[in-house]
Amino acid sequence: MPTPNILKHYPIRFLSVIDKMASNFKVKQAFDYFLVLDFEATCDDKVSIQPQEIIEFPCIKVNAQTFESEKVFHRYVKPVYRPQLTPFCTELTGIIQDMVENENNFIEVFKDFDIWMKEELLEKEKSFAFVTCGDWDLKTMLPSQCRTSNCNKPNYFNSWINIKRSFSDVTGTWPRGMIPMLRQLKLKHEGRHHSGIDDCRNIANILKGLGQRGYIYRLTRH
Ligand code: AMP
Ligand code: MG
Ligand code: MG
Repeated sequence: MPTPNILKHYPIRFLSVIDKMASNFKVKQAFDYFLVLDFEATCDDKVSIQPQEIIEFPCIKVNAQTFESEKVFHRYVKPVYRPQLTPFCTELTGIIQDMVENENNFIEVFKDFDIWMKEELLEKEKSFAFVTCGDWDLKTMLPSQCRTSNCNKPNYFNSWINIKRSFSDVTGTWPRGMIPMLRQLKLKHEGRHHSGIDDCRNIANILKGLGQRGYIYRLTRH
């Protein structure tokens, strides 16, 4: 069933009256699972850090029919080129040095993620789509990290759903970020902004919010 027209053309703030009705739309999504992903990386406020390195790798496996979170992959990653986190990075992400100090480097964590993908989805022949807030995670950060670590990027990372575009499909407005999307959908922000795993939980809530309004997700990059 396509996105109900009534939902497409009304600003989100006018939708509350029909929310209950909308939540009854049982639409069939095109995937078995959504994989909500949100990297955190080394950063500073004064200089641009090159190469930027992934320091938190969280991914939540969300059932595409129920929108319930079923499994979580979550690892902190020890950066190699700039092993010492800046005070700015810790302030922004809540990641302190101790949280990455004894962790594996990206190559090892990336291998573990691939094993997780095989066990959770690929061997079970489940269909899935990554979901990110913006295109930075899979268009910029992951390719850059793979070049830095000299490792191959599996093809399953080549397509994804940018939830900002999905949100824009439903509301007709391009969202400035995750917090404004939550606010417009009248969802509570959970945890700490810029903590990768908390960002994933909030993105998963937005995913569910739009899904329960009858939106059928489509890849925005492939
Ligand atoms: P986010 O998913 O929005 O938490 O951001 C992902 C990564 O982008 C962070 O881990 C930082 O490396 C970088 N980043 C986000 N916001 C800022 C900022 N205001 N200043 C510098 N880097 C940032
Ligand atoms: Mg992000
Ligand atoms: Mg984040």
